[in-house]
Amino acid sequence: MPATIYNFSAGPAVLPKEVLQQAAAEMLDWHGSGMSVMEMSHRGAEYTSIITAAQKDLRELLAVPDNYKILFMQGGAIAENAIVPMNLAGLKPQPATADYINTGSWSVKSLKEAGKYLNVNVAASSEADKFATIPPRDSWKLTRDAAYVHVCTNETIDGIEYQFVPDVSADTNGAPLVADMSSHILSRVIDVSQYGVIYGGAQKNIGPAGLTIVIVREDLLGHALPCCPSAFNWKTVADNDSMFNTPPTYAIYIAGLVFQWLKRQGGVAAMEERNIAKAALLYDYLDSSDFYINRINKGNRSRMNVPFFLRDESLNAAFLAQAKENGLLQLKGHKSVGGMRASIYNAMTIEGVQALVAFMAKFAAANK
Ligand code: PMP
Repeated sequence: MPATIYNFSAGPAVLPKEVLQQAAAEMLDWHGSGMSVMEMSHRGAEYTSIITAAQKDLRELLAVPDNYKILFMQGGAIAENAIVPMNLAGLKPQPATADYINTGSWSVKSLKEAGKYLNVNVAASSEADKFATIPPRDSWKLTRDAAYVHVCTNETIDGIEYQFVPDVSADTNGAPLVADMSSHILSRVIDVSQYGVIYGGAQKNIGPAGLTIVIVREDLLGHALPCCPSAFNWKTVADNDSMFNTPPTYAIYIAGLVFQWLKRQGGVAAMEERNIAKAALLYDYLDSSDFYINRINKGNRSRMNVPFFLRDESLNAAFLAQAKENGLLQLKGHKSVGGMRASIYNAMTIEGVQALVAFMAKFAAANK
């Protein structure tokens, strides 16, 4: 392996080296406590200081308003596909209806699962377009009394990202917007107040797998269906400060270190600038090349996940093998899409993207 490694995994994904070094230094004895963070009671003073700081830093980074709760949960975004309808269906008389915007593989999973708990109206879909676009807001057929409207604001597999926040309240009688932000949370500035619920798994821009972040407006708590497990009832979790059950303590600790790292980088706005530059470098190269192709509509491309194809797919195995020899890891595309995918989350440096583009150009020249 070369000395410098760049990891383009879609998730679990690369973490800032500084964070891993700090975690390694603190592994056996956290701040003179004589314990590893993994060995601490979640209710002790040491761990309370860790989880409180993590929550406070996340609130600061995303400027989360006071009337929103931040919850640390488990089960990943896939569990939230059920947890969301179980918590929100009760906003309306039963059976409730929720609107889903279908923009890719993760939207499909969300709407299928939600159908177990309420009526799902697919208000717009880009499936016929092979998920290369986001249906324009004025084409959405929303339900007048929807319990909520669900969007996946960054489709990790398809490489699609919302560059706008859809205003849905006028067409739905004020339904809250619910967003799966698993793969781009903290990569760009957002206005939390435009959403009722934001959720995401941690294993891309936040930390290790096992932690799910939920940011929920307070008036949306307390409407869960009777079937909702207590550990998945947002109100129960909020009332117990994310300690109704034992939280994923180590994952929260690492997330907290990532939040501190983000603050040292200048916060989310500074990160967004770097992410724009990184994505532009890669897309500009792809667009200038007749060897590679990205099939996503330019206005809907993801800054985080960049799927691309070699025009001659018989070269895929050689591309991946040589990329690995050059220290460029985990570039294989998702099995449902094929080709390649470079995930360039917050912890991926511009040098990593430069190295990728240089390798791609060299590979293209050698295989013309
Ligand atoms: N939604 C999106 C946008 C994702 O990228 C992922 C994970 N790749 C999921 C949902 C599922 O997350 P998990 O496996 O953590 O439940």
